[in-house]
Amino acid sequence: MSKGYKILIIDDDPTLCMIAERKLKQYGYSVLTALTGKEGIQYAVQHSPDILLLDYELPDMAGIDVCRYLRKNRIGEDKPILFIAGKEDYQSIENAFQAGATDFSSKPLNWSILVYRIQYMLRAHEINVSLISSEARLAKAQKIAKLTNWEYNAIDKSFKWSDTIYDLLEVNPQHENNLQLSDFYKRVPETDLYKVQQAISNCIGKNSSFDLEHALITQAGNHRIISHLGNVIKNDMTNIVEYIGTLQDITERRSTEDQVRTLAYYDSLTGLMNRESFLTGLDAVISSNKKYDLLSALLFIDLDDFKRVNDTLGHELGDLLLCEIAERLTNCVRTAGEEKEYQPNNHRLIKNPLPDGVVRLNSIDIQRFDLARLGGDEFTIFLADIPNIEVAASVSARLLKALEKPFSLDGYEVYVTFSIGIAISPTDGENIQVLLKNADTAMYSAKSNGKNNYQFYSSDMNEKALDRLSLESDLRNAIANNELHLVYQPQICLQTGCLVGAEALMRWTHSEKGNISPVEFIPLAEVTGQILVIGDWLFEQFNKDLVRWSKQGLIPEKFKLALNVSSLQFHQSNMMEKVEAVFSDLELNKHIEFELTESVMMQNAESNLDKLNQLAERNITLSIDDFGTGYSSLSYLHQFPVDTLKIDRSFISNMEGDGQIVIVNAILAMAKGMNITVVAEGIENQWQYDFLKQAGCDIGQGYFISKPIMIDTFEELLQNEKVSKGSLLS
Ligand code: C2E
Ligand code: CA
Ligand code: CA
Repeated sequence: MSKGYKILIIDDDPTLCMIAERKLKQYGYSVLTALTGKEGIQYAVQHSPDILLLDYELPDMAGIDVCRYLRKNRIGEDKPILFIAGKEDYQSIENAFQAGATDFSSKPLNWSILVYRIQYMLRAHEINVSLISSEARLAKAQKIAKLTNWEYNAIDKSFKWSDTIYDLLEVNPQHENNLQLSDFYKRVPETDLYKVQQAISNCIGKNSSFDLEHALITQAGNHRIISHLGNVIKNDMTNIVEYIGTLQDITERRSTEDQVRTLAYYDSLTGLMNRESFLTGLDAVISSNKKYDLLSALLFIDLDDFKRVNDTLGHELGDLLLCEIAERLTNCVRTAGEEKEYQPNNHRLIKNPLPDGVVRLNSIDIQRFDLARLGGDEFTIFLADIPNIEVAASVSARLLKALEKPFSLDGYEVYVTFSIGIAISPTDGENIQVLLKNADTAMYSAKSNGKNNYQFYSSDMNEKALDRLSLESDLRNAIANNELHLVYQPQICLQTGCLVGAEALMRWTHSEKGNISPVEFIPLAEVTGQILVIGDWLFEQFNKDLVRWSKQGLIPEKFKLALNVSSLQFHQSNMMEKVEAVFSDLELNKHIEFELTESVMMQNAESNLDKLNQLAERNITLSIDDFGTGYSSLSYLHQFPVDTLKIDRSFISNMEGDGQIVIVNAILAMAKGMNITVVAEGIENQWQYDFLKQAGCDIGQGYFISKPIMIDTFEELLQNEKVSKGSLLS
């Protein structure tokens, strides 16, 4: 029953000690006895007893001095000390308690009662110890959990904070001890103050619990978010004795939640909504719109040739471009004068109506829109509730206009164009998935319409999309079915009018659909990789023509035949082996020119240089196709063995009455300085022809001179040239 507790008895009466020892041992205690104060202290230090019985009067020192000494030096760590007083002297009892005694008993001792008393003291001590340690644990736990609490005692009306309040408010406990509720209120921002005061006073005054979140500004000025619970603690189910408030600092948790939410709902690059959050909830909007006979529009916006931007400028600038686009789109859809309001609950942008008297700049009334980046270079805008479909058209036109202006990226001026597909709900789809698919189809149609435009979805577009699919499978058989062939477009010296070369261009005569433009099938072949097989065929075919004409003596000394080499074909690792195998006659190779676009050369510029040098070793010259449409700096012209530049058709066709003349002149001057031949592509009229001739451009190509012609016709032309050396135009 006594768990082997150690008892130290300090008393100069040996008889008392002896009786005590015997008596207490019966109860299972182990007993130590000391006859003097000094001896007692010594034993206490050595044996650390569980309880001490201390005589009031000792020969060498007073009992209370022994007690004081033990307490002061923390010997026995607040173990119970029972004073044995000689008489019921109230003063000495008072003194003993002052010195740290736990209890007292007076002589003569009643051992039967004393044993119980000792037992009781030991148990009380244990409870106390575990209480202290659990309080300490609680304090520690509170600190870790950033928990703070207050207690209001209804009976004595006392109010108390836990120590962690000081950490929470970042105040120094030495400067502001005994914090009251009013001190706490001072740290609650005005926006939240009323609700906090109201909740606490309702809790204490009306016994209503509360659970709220509010802000707190610490002494150091830091903003925290607090979860604050208020509880009423009842005693015996009826009498309320205490009110307890628990405060938890949830700032960090909230910010991680926000981050998670941001990651889940928003595109990390642009900060726009991502695909998931865009799609969620729109079905509800669409079906409610249908009920009220409202129209909505989905705009699918895709950057034309984003791959080229990435290839030439690198992914970092590509990313930057996407961010700038996102910003421009946001600003553009937002009508001037309106303010956006963020609605955190449904994370959609809700537009406020315009204040009275503000006139809309574009008379476009968009009350609500959602803007998202679906991924890559694809953006979507959902216009809920438009008055008519023309609004979708004018928004699209405005977007295209806003995106026309160059983007300045790290010193580069980048021009990009966009294609927009529009699907209207409910006509083009009664749920977001269908609407999205149809807007995508419309976007593709805008692309094949020459890009930089918008298209409304129409059901026959689906047929076109299906056509594209069947075209893809037909292309696989095109070579085997002998449906591909080459045509040649003559090139003449602008100064003399003589035929100096030709560009080989591919044609596909489909067994059912007739002629299919390379603008349609080459990009398709590039996407599917079929361009590699087609490219092999192209090399063979081209070389056959060259060898045959050469054998017939139809190729003059400086004559060039140009061949378009696609990006995929050029970057193939065994490209050079193929070139060596097919174009094996170095003498004949002098007549071959490879046309590559700027972006093809800028991709892996270093390994390209190797390939280009190898081509040069095999006497194949290099021409830069569509020159001026890429974004790369001109410095690479020095690095690569470039022989010819082909000024892109768009510059030639826009020369008249336009600033493009300046560009054409600049290209000509630069090329001259670098000894590079210039071919002007797409000459369509006399004015262009004359201008380029007097500007000193070397070579011309275009419908005004000749359209691409069939092999037989071209052969005849070569024959005639050989005979007459006359001009094609005469
Ligand atoms: P490209 O290399 O820029 O070829 C020039 C295109 O401009 C040709 O179109 C040509 O017919 C057209 N053109 C020439 N003069 C005029 C003119 O005065 N006015 C107008 N409006 N157009 C003119 P085509 O043959 O339809 O080829 C289009 C594109 O398809 C080519 O552009 C080239 O990128 C690609 N392509 C054609 N053949 C091949 C080929 O054999 N291999 C590869 N990889 N691509 C090819
Ligand atoms: Ca070309
Ligand atoms: Ca070209």
